[in-house]
Amino acid sequence: MAHKALTLDEKLIQYLQKFGHRESAALAALREETSQLPEAVMQITPEQGQFMGFLAKLIGAKKLLEIGVFTGYSALAVMEDLPATSRMVALDISEAYTAVARRHWKAAGLKERIELRLGPALQSLETLLCEKGALKSFDFIFIDADKAHYPAYYEAALSLTRPGGIILIDNLIWSGKVADPSITDPDTEALRAMLHTLRADPRIDFSLIAVADGIGLARPGPRLDHA
Ligand code: SAH
Ligand code: CA
Repeated sequence: MAHKALTLDEKLIQYLQKFGHRESAALAALREETSQLPEAVMQITPEQGQFMGFLAKLIGAKKLLEIGVFTGYSALAVMEDLPATSRMVALDISEAYTAVARRHWKAAGLKERIELRLGPALQSLETLLCEKGALKSFDFIFIDADKAHYPAYYEAALSLTRPGGIILIDNLIWSGKVADPSITDPDTEALRAMLHTLRADPRIDFSLIAVADGIGLARPGPRLDHA
């Protein structure tokens, strides 16, 4: 029998969305602008943004990487309350989406702290991996670009994350499609494969959070020493 989990009905979802998070004026403005776009559903939810910001603070993240920026909400949610010494490298392929991101980051005083790199993320990661001091130096990496490349993004992220840092992998639930074996499109298959890879990977501690569209958490070793 499956473990018992809470079923969220419409009323409960509304309650959680109303009272389960706080959202800054800067984030609300960005969300409002993004909601006008047909692709608005790609944006993370405010409660996910809050959760990610919480994690980044918890581990004292100073060096962050985002793969898949869109209009910049997740980056803003994570960076807005971190100390001024923190920096993010943000990768995306779209000039149009990230023009919105740049504008809102600037308004929030983050222009100097988020470095946007435009281009296919695989290429940007190759470049990053070759940069001096990059290997095992990132505290926090969020993977949220095209799903087919997730396995490659994850491997690059493992090379870039310091031991005890955290990698977040978005959309592992994919609106529930992953659990329906009759759905076999490439994105769904890639996300399924990603989950199995994470679960089997001895290099990391792993957790899957059923918040929003499912967030995988990977913490590269070393294992804690209890001696
Ligand atoms: N994290 C964002 C949502 C990202 S949506 C937020 O919370 O709002 C996915 C993004 O991945 C899109 O902006 C898209 O332009 C980008 N993307 C798609 N394929 C890509 C690729 N090959 N390289 C880099 N970015 C890519
Ligand atoms: Ca996402």
